[in-house]
Amino acid sequence: TPEGDPVRNLTYRLPQERRIVTALPGPASAALADRCSGSVGRAISPTTPGYMVDGDGGVLVDADGNSFIDLASGIAVTSVGVSDEKVVEAIREAAGHFTHTAFMSTPYESYVQVAEKLNEITPGDHDKRTVLFSTGAEAVENAVKISRAYTGKPGVVVMDRAYHGRTNLTMAMTAKNRPYKSGFGPFAPDVTRVPMSYPVRDGLTGEQAAARAIYRMEKEVGPENIACVVAEPIQGEGGFIVPAEGFLPAIAAWCRANDVVFVADEIQAGMCRTGDWFAVDHENIIPDLMTTAKGIAGGMPLSAVTGRAEIVDAPGVGTLGGTYSGNPVACAAAVAAMGQMADLDLAARAREIEQIIREELEPLTTTGRVAEVRGRGAMVAVELVDADGVPDPALTTAVVSTCLGEGVLVLSCGMDGNVLRLLPPLVIDEALLREGLGVLADAVRATVGQESAHV
Ligand code: PLP
Repeated sequence: TPEGDPVRNLTYRLPQERRIVTALPGPASAALADRCSGSVGRAISPTTPGYMVDGDGGVLVDADGNSFIDLASGIAVTSVGVSDEKVVEAIREAAGHFTHTAFMSTPYESYVQVAEKLNEITPGDHDKRTVLFSTGAEAVENAVKISRAYTGKPGVVVMDRAYHGRTNLTMAMTAKNRPYKSGFGPFAPDVTRVPMSYPVRDGLTGEQAAARAIYRMEKEVGPENIACVVAEPIQGEGGFIVPAEGFLPAIAAWCRANDVVFVADEIQAGMCRTGDWFAVDHENIIPDLMTTAKGIAGGMPLSAVTGRAEIVDAPGVGTLGGTYSGNPVACAAAVAAMGQMADLDLAARAREIEQIIREELEPLTTTGRVAEVRGRGAMVAVELVDADGVPDPALTTAVVSTCLGEGVLVLSCGMDGNVLRLLPPLVIDEALLREGLGVLADAVRATVGQESAHV
């Protein structure tokens, strides 16, 4: 990085260090965990051994003074950090005036500012419109509603391993049974799943994989029945799967030719995470609609559907919305967070983070247990397999748990639960990031070593 890079010059409020000062969990966190199990529904069972009281840059600090390295960003949300000064100031300022008015009845400027900014940064220079909501699942549901209103058709097509949320329609769109769907049906009808490109497993080119998916759409549903195809440009929960080049452009082109709305779900991959504003920018794809959430508002609940004006405006006046949609405090945070992304050039920073992750983790392939280190920008995964090349969720769980015990927060994902996923805040300090990745690499080597000792 050249001298004077704004990210390198970031100052942090908290020491950027991994510091474990108690057994984990420490006494204060253990007491809170007890209260949690006595008061919170067990479906919500936190996996990290600390209850957090503070955070900054690349660290989260728990109630016992342990400082964890954050390689998760609250599931790809706090790209600008958990307490970015400008975001916090914007939240204070907005909340000091009003916390809520309900934009649908009593509007304010920050909602319009977020819409203008998203219309500007999303791909394509055509006329665009944006509508705001609170959660990612809500944005996906509304993208479907808009597509149905525009096309007058019912069908929704999604990809293998897709994740789009936990509401009823988005459960139908999400692939993985446990823990997301099992026992929660019946699900919404008219959702069809087609195969996505998964280069390391299917060996197909992007064009071949697209032809396979298009064949299924044409034969099983028919374009005359399809309102939209919804795809994550890089799959998140499904395993950080990057489709082969050419796959997404071919699907988008088929949609355009068949009066089908192409929806890019950028909720996890968007907002500088993959080294561009959006993951679709990599192949210059212009989606008809895009859903965003997570990183958009520095941790505040906010989501959006942005796209071609004639599509977004298909539903009539008053037909979309929700009490909290586009909350003013969340909108103020989003304006500040998107400002920081541009001012600090966090997209470039994401590309640097990819290099650092690859340097530290690609050597793990010599263990014979890493099928692939893949991803783009600061969205990189390590797929773990057993000695026969079969997905190894046990190894993955053991590595995650060793990392947590050593003060490094890391998540897993994938249909088979065998993928370590790295989503560090884009403002993480380089030395701290390398330390966290070192702990992770050691955890993989140690776990594989212990297994072979037992054979
Ligand atoms: N779509 C994608 C690609 C996601 O990764 C997620 C969440 O992980 C969602 C939708 C759902 O977002 P939320 O959890 O805010 O409802």
